[in-house]
Amino acid sequence: MTQSPENTVWDVIVVGGGHAGCEAATAAARMGAATLLLTHKLDTIGEMSCNPAIGGLGKGHLVREIDALAGVMGRLADRSGIQFRLLNRSKGAAVRGPRAQIDRRLYREAMQAELAETPNLTIVAAAVEDLVIEHGRVVGAVADDGRLFRAAAVVLTTGTFLNGVIHRGDERIPAGRHGDQPAIGLSQRLYGLDLNMGRLKTGTPARLDGRTIAWERLEMQQADETPVPFSFLTDRITVPQIACGITATNARTHEIIAANLGQSAVYGGHLSGRGPRYCPSIEDKVVRFADKDSHQVFLEPEGSDDPTVYPNGISTSVAPDTQLAFLRTMAGLEAVEVIRYGYAIEYDYIDPRELDPSLQMKRLPGLWCAGQINGTTGYEEAGAQGLVAGLNAARAASGADAVTFGRDEAYIGVMIDDLVTRGVTEPYRMFTSRAEYRLTLRADNADQRLTGRGVELGLVGPERAAAFAHKALLLKAADEVVRTVTFTPNEAKALGVTVNADGQRRSIRDLLAYPGVTLDAFAAVVPAMADWPEVVREQVVIDAGYAGYIDRQRIEAESLQREEALILPAELDYATVGGLSNEVREKLERIRPRTLGQAGRIEGMTPGALTALLFHVKHRR
Ligand code: FAD
Repeated sequence: MTQSPENTVWDVIVVGGGHAGCEAATAAARMGAATLLLTHKLDTIGEMSCNPAIGGLGKGHLVREIDALAGVMGRLADRSGIQFRLLNRSKGAAVRGPRAQIDRRLYREAMQAELAETPNLTIVAAAVEDLVIEHGRVVGAVADDGRLFRAAAVVLTTGTFLNGVIHRGDERIPAGRHGDQPAIGLSQRLYGLDLNMGRLKTGTPARLDGRTIAWERLEMQQADETPVPFSFLTDRITVPQIACGITATNARTHEIIAANLGQSAVYGGHLSGRGPRYCPSIEDKVVRFADKDSHQVFLEPEGSDDPTVYPNGISTSVAPDTQLAFLRTMAGLEAVEVIRYGYAIEYDYIDPRELDPSLQMKRLPGLWCAGQINGTTGYEEAGAQGLVAGLNAARAASGADAVTFGRDEAYIGVMIDDLVTRGVTEPYRMFTSRAEYRLTLRADNADQRLTGRGVELGLVGPERAAAFAHKALLLKAADEVVRTVTFTPNEAKALGVTVNADGQRRSIRDLLAYPGVTLDAFAAVVPAMADWPEVVREQVVIDAGYAGYIDRQRIEAESLQREEALILPAELDYATVGGLSNEVREKLERIRPRTLGQAGRIEGMTPGALTALLFHVKHRR
């Protein structure tokens, strides 16, 4: 007879079936750990609380990295994406971000099916209210009905649920998100442990009834003709693609919002938590960007057979009648009906400086934390942390050492290092500008950077390992060709590539770095190229394009490390330092760090800003 979940000592318990929890649970299970996922409701596993989209700039890189380590997000997004677009397609490969609008139902169902089929994983519906702590170590979790579950390692991924409160106009509703109960006992328990904690907020827009939108009068945005999948294992996207609509706010919209600011959670002074600077509410936009008389709004269907539409860019917490009034001022929305009104939510988070780089609590061993509970925002940030926490919890349960990822190895490493060393004062989201090695940390090469490591760690199964080994072999052979086949300037000219007549021989790789030169120029000389798959051709061209810049990137990163002790003059006028964003300039002026190293540890500081500061101080008279 099989034992009940309460009578089993699990290797790993994961609390919360959101984006962090699903990656944590499946990663632990892939590592062979006997894993128990405890979550409020089985039918909200994989729920997208806010925007029905995955990926984007920086975030798309994280999804590729999760996928390279055999995580689930990328594969499932490929099965449920209804509008794929590669953002920044015209810019360099380092800053291109794969993104897809997702059919929420398909994603949730795919996630639930994936978890149900995962070996070593058991799922139980339970609301965890307490932790079991013995001899200073977390060894289990207790549900609100008294059931006690034991494990060698516990991972908390409770999202916005810790003491969550929804704000909308005058309404205050205790909730983890719309329609879900908050986790109050667990929040009290964590505060009781004297951990550094705080309040943050985020918000969501109204959901619109697509049948009441005048689509025919709107500009429409189509999906990419050839959708680029997230997963390295997906050959092509087969889900039918849809278009989304584009409208915009106008002077009348802003007037209505400005006249009713007192109803909003933040401007009415009803909440203290800081919201995401990079995902401002429409109230924030009206106040902070008062000189702008219009903001674009994307109307994104939440599913192919779902009339619900997500209006991207106008999250709000004003009262319902004000929401309806301002929505109806926008083109195409004159007769719109609302399915659910927008709201802001305030919730507890744990200061991520309480965590070590494996995401284990420094002062409470046995407990790992991942996702929004650590002060981040976004499914991708949550998923990536979940994977690291699940991996490490499983390793700890088997007595193995912690594993971390370097800043030069992965965006996952950049994010976790930022979180555990700098902490957060507002919800943290990923941007490519946060990485000092962004020319090498690209979405296209995430598998080259991480899958081999995943195989060594036991995270990556045989199918992916074999596909990776095959691709690596092809890439190695292609790389050998482009490095060793060389041409004199005259030979290059005969192929249509004009270079200095300096007598130097140049490799295909060198010549590919010249503007407008493609692999096709060399097809006649290297017939084997015809057999290179498209991914190999692409990677070879991208690598060649970046080859000259990668040394410079290394030199810049090394000089930042070397100059950590550089004294920043006390009277430094940051307004005169070129290349700083307003956010960074504001923080530098307020904090006035003594050294470059201290400046580097300010939350939100980017490597680009540090390089600008270093240059300014070194070269000022
Ligand atoms: P969640 O996805 O919230 O999952 C938490 C899970 O844990 C849930 O399944 C819950 O039922 C379960 N759980 C919680 N407590 C317990 C407990 N005690 N016992 C058992 N189970 C428990 N992100 C953006 O990138 N952009 C946005 O604009 C944005 N806006 C948002 C607006 C709102 C209103 C909300 C709620 C979220 C928003 N997000 C946004 C954030 C995004 O939804 C989260 O970052 C992401 O879902 C975090 O994933 P997670 O796994 O940490 O938590």
